[in-house]
Amino acid sequence: MRIFDPHIHMTSRTTDDYRAMYDAGVRVVVEPSFWLGQPRTAPDSFFDYFDALLGWEPFRAAQYGITHLCTLALNPKEANDPRLTPVLDALPRYLAKDSVVAVGEIGYDSMTPAEDAALAAQLQLAADHGLPALVHTPHRDKLAGLRRTLDLVKESALPVERVLLDHLNETTVREAADSGAWLGFSVYPDTKMDEDRMVAVLKEHGTERVLVNSAADWGKSDPLKTRKVGDAMLAAGFTDEEVDQVLWRNPVAFYGLSGRLRIAALAPGAPSPGALAPGALHEGNSIRRGGE
Ligand SMILES: [Zn+2]
Repeated sequence: MRIFDPHIHMTSRTTDDYRAMYDAGVRVVVEPSFWLGQPRTAPDSFFDYFDALLGWEPFRAAQYGITHLCTLALNPKEANDPRLTPVLDALPRYLAKDSVVAVGEIGYDSMTPAEDAALAAQLQLAADHGLPALVHTPHRDKLAGLRRTLDLVKESALPVERVLLDHLNETTVREAADSGAWLGFSVYPDTKMDEDRMVAVLKEHGTERVLVNSAADWGKSDPLKTRKVGDAMLAAGFTDEEVDQVLWRNPVAFYGLSGRLRIAALAPGAPSPGALAPGALHEGNSIRRGGE
């Protein structure tokens, strides 16, 4: 089973996770920039974080044979701090980088006017840069949040067919599917979606435009949830072909809208484009400390 995890926060994960993910079939990950738990107080700490997602984390992933790509944005929660608005002005120079495959994650947290402004500005940035957008839907008031998100997308210059709506569940999937957007489901250990609920959604709605991710981060989460969904799909009678569509071809198609996925390199059996020669350095440093 080949797996492309379209939404996972590897910054929060260990090297053991990378090894287990590789063994489970994960070959490509997309890490969206997000809220790190501790609120940031200055734009510069975003820029260091963006640089880590563009440099250090892909280097770390490559040690385990996994290609690491990212999406960059000012996240919805921190969009409420006016000290951080300058992040929006700096984003264009980051969005030009090759391994940035979407603007994200953007969307609503508490649905404030500041979040409206940041979402609208970043949908425009996605349109300007020829990038798709990863749009998080809020965990509270899910249906109201989805509707407000879709209204803003409709007013924007970005076609809804270039939007991945994430954190969907049974209450939001129908309206999200009717909109023409791509459908993202984050599968968690014991809250929100689990693999059996995911299989039920796939039975009802099919595999078209559906992406499944582990969204693993610093909270209780499991970076192998993508694999567990694949296994649950097979146990429920889905074919290998259908599992491959959800866990590989749909994420390749969505992030391929960026024009930045080297699809040939992602063919089955091809060496991972992120794989590094032994002893490779990141800015003069190896992954080991102490200069072996
Ligand atoms: Zn996330």
